[in-house]
Amino acid sequence: MIDRELASFVKNLMPKERRSGNNAKPVSVWMEMDRIRGYPEQTCVAIFRTTGCSWYNFSSCSMCGYFNDISSTVTEENLMKQTDEIIHYLGNTETLKVFTSGSFLDPIEMPVRARDYFYDSISGKIDKLLVESRTEYITPSNLSPIKDRKLKARIAIGVESANDEIIARSINKGSSFNKFVTAARTSKEQGFEVRSYLLLKPPFMSEAEAVDDCMRSIALVAPYSTDISVNPMNIQKNTLVEYLWKRGQYRPPRLWSLARILVWAGRSGFNVVSYPTGGNRERGVHNDLHDDRLLNLIVQSSLSQGFDELDKYIQASDLSRYYNDLEVENLLPEEIDYHKLIHEMSYSRISV
Ligand code: SF4
Repeated sequence: MIDRELASFVKNLMPKERRSGNNAKPVSVWMEMDRIRGYPEQTCVAIFRTTGCSWYNFSSCSMCGYFNDISSTVTEENLMKQTDEIIHYLGNTETLKVFTSGSFLDPIEMPVRARDYFYDSISGKIDKLLVESRTEYITPSNLSPIKDRKLKARIAIGVESANDEIIARSINKGSSFNKFVTAARTSKEQGFEVRSYLLLKPPFMSEAEAVDDCMRSIALVAPYSTDISVNPMNIQKNTLVEYLWKRGQYRPPRLWSLARILVWAGRSGFNVVSYPTGGNRERGVHNDLHDDRLLNLIVQSSLSQGFDELDKYIQASDLSRYYNDLEVENLLPEEIDYHKLIHEMSYSRISV
């Protein structure tokens, strides 16, 4: 299901000029903690610079600004050079997560020759690989080169929500829950694990609705997933979400909401992690008051899969204002960041 009007609005927000960058270098490579082998450890993360997601030809997801990092002139040779850079950076790290500005398994974005070069380069060096892809590229033939080399891998899929209305009208993903199920089953049949990404608080819904949708989605994607990564909204440039946020019509979710979801998921026996991008910042998940301890507990409990400390912290805190804000927002006809709006109104009154 596609909302063509929404898709075209999102497309118009994307930069028109051809993008360029240093084609021989990945967008970024760094180390971070994750648990893709089932325990916390340093993991290398690499973002290939590519020509971008196939969905960009038509539109983009409402929160996705990865098109800001693409280059329209990247070649197979460039991608192989980028692989060399990544291998150089790896050192003794045995786990590697690979992102592109789209889908690693898309043969146009990551041509077969460049992909094979990458698999051959990491063989014997890496014990566990994670690659991201849109559902349409998760096919037996696209997965077989990984299988043939006996590489252990987790396939990451951005399902975002288990609700097709939200996938179409809030996220503009050009996908569906059924497509996710088919892709996840294919991955498992080919012997791979699945990480499912859920988006916490897409636009056009209140935070209370977003929490409900996220919990419901966790329960529905869990049977098809090795683990589930809850990604709270992070406002990226030139996106629909940024457009709404700048007009006071969107507020990123609160850390309390994310913490509640994780504690609930842990208690319910779901394998859920969250490593928020932009946490405690204006464009990322944040409470009205800055809370480093809460953010740290969210990350540490995700890594350890022990949620007791996080639960205790919630129990010992006063969440009355948080619940009150959620209740008020839920009554409004459209989502409004009213603290931001009130701030701007007061500011404009002073400056008049
Ligand atoms: S599928 Fe992924 S890369 Fe493509 S537009 Fe959506 S979020 Fe961005």
